[in-house]
Amino acid sequence: MLKEHTNIVWFRHDLRLSDNPALCAAIKAGSVIPIFIYDTAVYASTELGGASKWWLHHSLTQLNEALNGHLQIFKGDAKTLLPELINELGCEGAYWNRTYEPEKIARDKKIKATLKEQGTYCESFNGSLLWEPWTIAKADGDRYKVFTPYYRKGCLQAPAPRYPLSAPSNIHFSDVVSEAAIALEALELLPTIPWDKGFYQQWQSGEQAAKTLLSEFIEKAAQAYRADRDTPSIKGTSRLSPYLRWGEISPNQIWYAILDHFGGATDDSIDTYLSEIGWREFSYYMLYHFPQLQTQNYSPKFAHFPWQENQGHLQAWQNGQTGIPIIDAGMRELWQTGYMHNRVRMVVGSFLVKNLLIDWREGERWFWDCLCDADMASNSASWQWVAGCGSDAAPYFRVFNPVLQGEKFDKQGTYVKTYCPELSRLPDKYIHKPWEAPQNIMDAIKLKLGSDYPRPIVDLKQSRLRALDAFATTKNATN
Ligand code: FAD
Repeated sequence: MLKEHTNIVWFRHDLRLSDNPALCAAIKAGSVIPIFIYDTAVYASTELGGASKWWLHHSLTQLNEALNGHLQIFKGDAKTLLPELINELGCEGAYWNRTYEPEKIARDKKIKATLKEQGTYCESFNGSLLWEPWTIAKADGDRYKVFTPYYRKGCLQAPAPRYPLSAPSNIHFSDVVSEAAIALEALELLPTIPWDKGFYQQWQSGEQAAKTLLSEFIEKAAQAYRADRDTPSIKGTSRLSPYLRWGEISPNQIWYAILDHFGGATDDSIDTYLSEIGWREFSYYMLYHFPQLQTQNYSPKFAHFPWQENQGHLQAWQNGQTGIPIIDAGMRELWQTGYMHNRVRMVVGSFLVKNLLIDWREGERWFWDCLCDADMASNSASWQWVAGCGSDAAPYFRVFNPVLQGEKFDKQGTYVKTYCPELSRLPDKYIHKPWEAPQNIMDAIKLKLGSDYPRPIVDLKQSRLRALDAFATTKNATN
């Protein structure tokens, strides 16, 4: 009897077949109609960035292939579309994995209520977090505000995360197709101006690619993660962030692949890597408990912070034309590949909010548009961390010196030379501070500051002192 039931599986941030609890439940309940909705109501207020759209296009292509071409794609307001589809296709139920952005939580609640009213079975699952935000609290019921106790006491002492589910061996697809279904191309996710050339060299999206990347990381890099993760010129990190963002892999799959491989006996490197996955959880925890995270300072002390408006500086930062090599290399990596190394994200972030005193929300918006892993929780939480206004944020007096950061983490300037090739003939000694190179060297390598490469747009020492003054105002602020 059960096999006659037809159910919608609504794919959202879980574009994979393995470890997909909603898909597994729907398969058990009968035949399946897999759908994806490009939700114009949600995207009207928080539009997907260009890099995210690029990723989504390729990810949906891969998912459709894995589903033997059965994925039905829609565009519109999911609140009305989904109940209509259920009626049109004669479905008994709808299954999905939860998402945690505030607007989507509100939308999903509304949809659940509508479906309940029309008598449709509906069930949601946890498919993208190890610990859902409402399950972790202090002994007194209060929520954690600092990462280490949240993770070590809250998460690691909570019941262990769900073990990943295998990919279904057989899916019985319904043949019914909605009249409203559209082709993927109709979503127009790919750019009309071809700025995405570098993306194709960098990324292969999809569930299979994520699994391969994870295996390679475990085999080749995981045990050196602690030592290598801060060097932007090498592949010392897993680069799984866009796959996690779109759910082509789940944190559970990563968590247990690591623990199973290393037999549960974790060393410092493995612990550090797992705790980074923990930072992702913490970001979602913060977004859940402070839904304005993307737009409002978490700390009320920043309410009157003297941010500066300077379009020229902002554009120089966005375009990788600040005259500070490590900053420019990072911003160009972002533009060319849809990714930036974590160490460099922190350095360019500090430079924007501290040396330039530009509001962290400008940085958040630019990253949102340019990152393939742009994620409301991680991006907002990280920017607030960098600016010092987040929960458990970097202290206000920490202003990264980009020259020293470059010299420490990109000793030979390999990273800088990759993205700022105009500097490649500079001796290593000056690669992070070309303005200090003697004129005879500049003449010999035919490099002219101000035309071949910009002079620094701010003086690093003065702008640091200005930042310290500005940030000191938050110390005594009451709101
Ligand atoms: P790995 O070092 O291999 O880490 C494994 C996974 O852990 C990552 O894929 C990611 O999911 C998670 N992770 C690692 N560090 C963090 C962190 N600090 N916060 C939250 N999760 C983390 N990450 C995003 O996924 N999306 C964003 O939009 C984003 N914006 C950021 C903005 C700024 C200003 C900064 C400083 C960091 C941001 N991060 C963001 C966090 C981090 O830079 C990336 O997750 C990481 O660089 C991704 O590379 P990886 O997969 O090789 O990381």
